Amino acid sequence: MSNTVLIVEDNDLNMKLFRDLLQTHGLNIIETKNGFDAVTLAKTHLPNLILMDIQLPGISGIDVIRSIKADPQLFSIPIIAITAFAMKEDRDRIMESGCEGYLPKPISISLFLDMVSKYLNIDLKAKGRNNE
Ligand code: MN
Repeated sequence: MSNTVLIVEDNDLNMKLFRDLLQTHGLNIIETKNGFDAVTLAKTHLPNLILMDIQLPGISGIDVIRSIKADPQLFSIPIIAITAFAMKEDRDRIMESGCEGYLPKPISISLFLDMVSKYLNIDLKAKGRNNE
């Protein structure tokens, strides 16, 4: 069964980029623009990985990460925070929320694939080459 990734991202262009990159590599995608829906979606689908935008309407991705990491059913799902926040204090604050990884926007596609590969324990880059 192929891996499922939950994407929480309110920006349409970023969502399309992440979706296209992951679907091209055969991953199943669950997506929402709404941080308030993320915990429910995670419980319903039990994804293998969560990509979490930090700047979301009405709620910070940091609070969503804290909710997921406080949930005994969900806390073991790795979370990669993705954000345009660039300052070191911001990065520290995000990592303290309990997420496993951090990617700055605009994303490097190579770094994105490396990090997703790491937390899914597969090699997306090798898979992409084989499919070409
Ligand atoms: Mn955003």
